[in-house]
Amino acid sequence: MKVLKFGGTSVANAQNITLVKNIVSDVDADQTIVVVSAFGGITDLLLQTADFAASQDLRYKTVLKEIEDRHIDTIKKLIPINKQSKALSKIKSDLNTLETLLEGAYLIGEITPRLSDKIVSYGELLSSYSIAEFFAEQQLDAVYRDSRDFIKTNDLNGKAVVDTNATNKLCKEILGETKSKVIVVPGFIASSINGNSTTLGRGGSDFTAALIAAALDAEVLEIWTDVSGMYTANPKIVKQAHAIPHISYEEAMELSHFGAKVLYPPTIQPVLTKGISIHIKNTFDPESAGTLITKNRTEKGKTVRGITHVENIALLSLEGPGMVGIPGISKRFFEVLSLHDISVVLITQASSEHSICVGISDSDIEKAVEIVNQAFEYEIEREKIWPVIAERNLAIIALVGDNMKSHQGLSGKMFSTLGRNNVNIRAIAQGASERNISAVIKKEDVKKALNALHEEFFEENVKQLNLFVMGVGNVGSKFLNQIQQQRKYLKENLKLNIRVIGISNSRNMVFDEDGISLKNWEDVLKDGEKADKALFFNKINQLNYRNSIFVDNTASDDVASTYASYLKNSISVVTCNKIACSSNYTNYIDLKNLAREYNAPFLFETNVGAGLPIIDTLKHLIASGDKVLKIQAVLSGSLNFVFNNFNDKTTFHDVVKQAQEEGYTEPDPKIDLSGIDVMRKILILARESGNRLDIEDIGNTPFLPEESLATTTNEDFFSSLKKYEASFQEMYKAAADTDSKLKYVAQFEDGKASVGLQHIPKGHDFYNLEGSDNIVLFYTERYPNQPMIIKGAGAGADVTASGIFADIIRIGNF
Ligand code: ADP
Ligand code: ASP
Ligand code: MG
Repeated sequence: MKVLKFGGTSVANAQNITLVKNIVSDVDADQTIVVVSAFGGITDLLLQTADFAASQDLRYKTVLKEIEDRHIDTIKKLIPINKQSKALSKIKSDLNTLETLLEGAYLIGEITPRLSDKIVSYGELLSSYSIAEFFAEQQLDAVYRDSRDFIKTNDLNGKAVVDTNATNKLCKEILGETKSKVIVVPGFIASSINGNSTTLGRGGSDFTAALIAAALDAEVLEIWTDVSGMYTANPKIVKQAHAIPHISYEEAMELSHFGAKVLYPPTIQPVLTKGISIHIKNTFDPESAGTLITKNRTEKGKTVRGITHVENIALLSLEGPGMVGIPGISKRFFEVLSLHDISVVLITQASSEHSICVGISDSDIEKAVEIVNQAFEYEIEREKIWPVIAERNLAIIALVGDNMKSHQGLSGKMFSTLGRNNVNIRAIAQGASERNISAVIKKEDVKKALNALHEEFFEENVKQLNLFVMGVGNVGSKFLNQIQQQRKYLKENLKLNIRVIGISNSRNMVFDEDGISLKNWEDVLKDGEKADKALFFNKINQLNYRNSIFVDNTASDDVASTYASYLKNSISVVTCNKIACSSNYTNYIDLKNLAREYNAPFLFETNVGAGLPIIDTLKHLIASGDKVLKIQAVLSGSLNFVFNNFNDKTTFHDVVKQAQEEGYTEPDPKIDLSGIDVMRKILILARESGNRLDIEDIGNTPFLPEESLATTTNEDFFSSLKKYEASFQEMYKAAADTDSKLKYVAQFEDGKASVGLQHIPKGHDFYNLEGSDNIVLFYTERYPNQPMIIKGAGAGADVTASGIFADIIRIGNF
């Protein structure tokens, strides 16, 4: 004999009930007991209609009508029209009784726990009756039995306690004597010794099935639901979660106690005593293996078996100098809570005995504060104990696994993962069984914490990076294309899963929590909402994803000024925008400190030399104890392009124009030609070498005439270049006469930095610098005479995009 229980979703409508029938017909057993829940959502509707009635709100009728329609519609779909009348009239008569009960509650304006249980029991009564009728109609040799006749409880409505002896005896008598092949039974509902309807708690149909399985020594208890087993974490919150193939009773109990709703916690006890295994299966995917729960699991598997969470938790802390060394304080504390039926989910006590802290359900907190303060009134008045402190809006997350006790370092790994993701831990408890390590965190951090822990413990080191990209011009669009091309490779080879969750340009912005398709992001962005920098930040912050990265591909001051708010929320920042790092020193250093404090990298490799690994190399040199003595560099791809192409056969004006047209200059070419851009770059290198410098400290002897520098439009600028062509030619000639080339050089030595045009003689490292290439010479204590040289393309959208990409990967490996 087997007991199969089908949950709310499995019986939510006629179509699903047909799947249930197929599963039941295929069962290989002499007899099958089918325990069913109310149709999905009906229990909630019943509670809602009861609430409305009790507060004399006529909307109870609308909800009741909805309940009625669902049932009638289902019967009409399940049973052929010529045979419907019996089932329909029974259902209508039950609904009439229900209506009478609700009218009573409406008139009195009140509802007792007993009436509430009675009302809510109609969910399972109606579903089980309908299903039994359908099975019989489908020639399944099925009968209906009312569980109120054999599941017995005490009289505590709402929190009824099962009378196991009476239940066992009656199950054997009533079900044991029923010979039909299939017996359909309502879950969740029971009756007291006095004959009143009671219920077994939300989710209690699982428990009904377990009680029957234990009483009748079933071969197996199958829990059929809407997921393929007990998962490594709640699959609604953690997309990567997967079913655990085999698990012990104790592990399953711990997981369900700490929030794995797929199994109602009391379910395990009755079958555990009898050694009956539980098999969790998916009604919508009967072929998948599901989860087997038995005494000992054979499979070795992981130490951590699952990660669960309980929401709506509050912490209650009792503290005070009078607690130290005084026996009995904890006893009184727990006694008063238990006296008022407040159950304690988690306990921590500091070894100093200075405080006790317990986690309880948030709905109990007001009452708890009142009764605990009352219980310790004497001590509070004498300032031996402080009034109890309550903290709300919290949640518990727990790691569960039988073998955790024999493994060191799991809690360390758990807490460092949470810390890295900026999840603040309010309290910690390790169950005495050591099958569970729990932490209390803020409710809004649950999703991030679960996903981060799941990644750490279950995902073979695949790390998910969540990108929010601002600016999709030349560089930004190349960057998105590169991600699209490399995504598969990164996942397979570097175990990095990169998702772009948000994109914004100056007009529109768009978000997709599952990741924006990079094949058609342009179209998606076009249809996005109006761009707004503050809303963009708010959205990222509110999504609260682990490993969130804000990517700034703009050149905007406004965007640069938002970095601090990102970093403060543990959102990493990757940018090719030089403004922040070349702004005043305090701002630069504050951002670097925030990055450290909030564990959120702030990377800007592309600020100098586009994709060349200049800053990263410098960082490695310094970190490994080297010291920078001198930096000499050609850092402007645009100026290099200009001076490589300018000679006595061209005009300076035309070359600059060409550089602008080919995208080698900033939109305002004066930023490059005045040397500002190079000043910013050498400033950043000097700072990254550990020097305190500001832009005003950098020497700059301009080669442009003052008049050109003073222009305010590009047009005026270009005409002034024409006007001064003769002086540019002189500049060229002076260099050519000494066999030298003109190069715009940045230099840093002895704490001083300068930029300017120089004559570079043949044989110098800079002499043969091609096109828009950059070169940097680092003279350091380890490289005093022969400098370390980094050279290569230092401008262009493609290489800049790849530099940003490299920073993202650095964060992935962080
Ligand atoms: P039923 O109505 O079939 O009893 P429940 O809604 O009570 O189903 O339980 C199944 C649901 O439990 C799943 O849809 C899932 O959202 C939730 N759940 C939470 N944690 C877990 C977990 N660790 N494994 C599987 N399901 C879980
Ligand atoms: N129908 C009840 C509930 O929704 C019992 C159950 O589904 O297990 O809580
Ligand atoms: Mg359930």
